[in-house]
Amino acid sequence: MNTTVNIDQERLIADFMTLVSIGSHSREEANVAAYIRGAVEELGYSVEEDHAGDIVGGNSGNLIIRVPGNPEWATVLLMAHMDTVAPGHGVRPIRQADRITSDGKTILGADDKVGVAGLLHLLTVLHSTGEEHPPLEVVFTVCEEVGLLGAKALNRSQLKASYGFVFDSGGSLGSIVTQGPAQAKMRAAVHGKAAHAGMAPEKGVSAIEVAGHAIANMRLGRIDDRTTANIGQIKGGFATNIVCDLVELFAEARSLDDDRLRAQQEHMTQMLKDTAKRYGVHADVEWTASYPAFALPADSFLRDIATDALQRMGLTPQFVHSGGGSDANVISSKGIPVLNVAVGYQQIHTLEEWIALDDLIGSARLMLEMIRAASNYERRS
Ligand SMILES: [Zn+2]
Repeated sequence: MNTTVNIDQERLIADFMTLVSIGSHSREEANVAAYIRGAVEELGYSVEEDHAGDIVGGNSGNLIIRVPGNPEWATVLLMAHMDTVAPGHGVRPIRQADRITSDGKTILGADDKVGVAGLLHLLTVLHSTGEEHPPLEVVFTVCEEVGLLGAKALNRSQLKASYGFVFDSGGSLGSIVTQGPAQAKMRAAVHGKAAHAGMAPEKGVSAIEVAGHAIANMRLGRIDDRTTANIGQIKGGFATNIVCDLVELFAEARSLDDDRLRAQQEHMTQMLKDTAKRYGVHADVEWTASYPAFALPADSFLRDIATDALQRMGLTPQFVHSGGGSDANVISSKGIPVLNVAVGYQQIHTLEEWIALDDLIGSARLMLEMIRAASNYERRS
C-alpha cells in the first residue's frame, strides 16, 4: 500500500491562487480552460473540448482529459466545474496565515477552483510517482452555476467511466454527499381584471389579492425532511388607482424524493388555480424540471472506496444528503454512479468566501487517496 504523501503544498497553493485570479463567470470559461489545457499538456496528456459551449452559448465547452491507467481496471470519472458566480472578475486572492480570501470586492471562486486545482495537482503527482492507478477521465465542466448546463450537455458516449467522484461540496473534509434533491421551477401568471380603483373597484378583480390569498394558504419553506419550496420573486401592478390585472410568480421546489416533489408541485399549482377560480379569474402555472435527484445505493462500493481513502488520512467519513444540486445529479442520471466529495470551501457565493489552507491541501490529498483506494479496491476484487 502506498502511504506516501506527495502533495507539493506551495505549488498547489500557487496554482490555486492563479486559477482564482482568472475570471470565469458561467459562459466565460475560455481563459481558465486555456490555463488548464496548458498545465495538462505539459504533462503530455491531451485535452478534448466537447460541444457544450455551443449548446449553452458560452465561449468554452467541457474539458475531458483521459489519463491511461491499468487497462484491466474500471475507468474512474473525476469532476470539478470551471465556472463561478458573479462578481468574479478581477479576483485578487489574499493569502493569510491559515486561509485564502478575496480582497472583499469579489467572490474568491474556491467553488470550485479548489476542485480544479486539486485535480490538476493529482495528475502531476500521479505523473511523477508513476504509481499504478485506474484509467482516469477528468472532466472540467462549464456552467454548473447556472443550472448544471455543462454536465447536461456532456455526451455519455464520450465517457467510458463506470463510476466517479465529483469534488464540489462545502462542509468539512470527510463529508461525502450521497444524495441530492431534484429541483423544479415554477413560473405562474395570476390574471385579474383591471378597473379604476376609485370609480369602479367592484368591476375589477385584483390579481394581487388573488395571489396573496393563494400564497397565504400555500405550504412553503421546509415541507418535510426531504422537501423544500420557495417563492423567490413576485411582480405585478402599475399604479395605486388601477386594480391590478396581472401578477407573476417565480418559485422552486426541491425534494430528494420524486413523488414528494410532484406532490409539492401539484399543491402549489392547485392553490393558485383554485383561488383564482373562486375569484372568477384564472391562473396559468408552468413547471420546468431543473435537474433530477440523485441517490447512491446504501451498499455501493463507492462508500467503501471513500471510507478507505478518508481513513488513510485519519478522517471519519460522514455520508450526508445535500439540499442543493450539483453536477453529481446530472452525471448519476446518465448512469454513472458518483459521490460528491466535500472540499472545504466556505461561505461560497459571497464576498466573504474563503478556503483554509489545510483544506485546500487536504482536499488534494483526498483526491490522491481516493485513487489509491480505488486501486486497492481493484486489487482486492
Ligand atoms: Zn460548485
